Amino acid sequence: MRKPVIAGNWKMYKTVGESVQTALALKPLVANANHCEVIIAPVFTALKTVVDRLDGSNIKVAGQNCSTEVEEGAHTGEIAPFMLRDVGAAYVIIGHSERRQHYSETDTMVRRKVQAAISSGLTAIMCVGESLGQRDQGTAEAVVKGQLTGGLSGLTASDLDRIIVAYEPVWAIGTGRTATPEQAQEMHAFIRRVFAEGHSRDAAQALRILYGGSVKPDNVGALMAQEDIDGALVGGASLKADSFAQIVNYRES
Ligand code: PEP
Repeated sequence: MRKPVIAGNWKMYKTVGESVQTALALKPLVANANHCEVIIAPVFTALKTVVDRLDGSNIKVAGQNCSTEVEEGAHTGEIAPFMLRDVGAAYVIIGHSERRQHYSETDTMVRRKVQAAISSGLTAIMCVGESLGQRDQGTAEAVVKGQLTGGLSGLTASDLDRIIVAYEPVWAIGTGRTATPEQAQEMHAFIRRVFAEGHSRDAAQALRILYGGSVKPDNVGALMAQEDIDGALVGGASLKADSFAQIVNYRES
């Protein structure tokens, strides 16, 4: 049984005060959500305060990025994964399409970040997904396979339970245009097959694969009903406590 994961990516939104306010508003709304792991990813500057204020709750905290470097050192502007651990984060989002597109992150950088994160004790939520042009050209599977193998090579069997994959078609992120449940299921099943080829069937069966791209309270149920969709990575709809809570509590709606 794969425990679902519902993760909110707050991107570069919210001051520390606003982050705490949203996190505290969310806390009672998801307190009974034992069916899934609930994660929020505030900006770096708010991580420590949010973790402290959520102490004792079922909400876990993620960083939105981390350095490729494992050790501290002369890397201005970077944050090592162990520093995320140090402030109480348990997860880190790696290779989000906004970072691949706007900050030139390559599969090699993504792989180094994934390895650094895992060796520092974090669980990596590694994002993959094709652009609209790639989908229209019929290369979506090849692109996603390249990102998967590029980002996840060199991992040992014991590393694999610290990996979550998020399939986020770029054309569905922040656009209001969601992949249909069938389109998402097809790619999720493909991702599981690729993972089985690269690792093992058992590891692929245990892998949590999240869907991301305009997930909202009114479409989460149909997405989560798909066999290979194990959760959601939510951007815009995670910024408000009530809409994110409705997504987390999708089983009640
Ligand atoms: C995201 O940022 O990962 C995302 C999926 O955003 P949105 O839900 O707004 O499409």
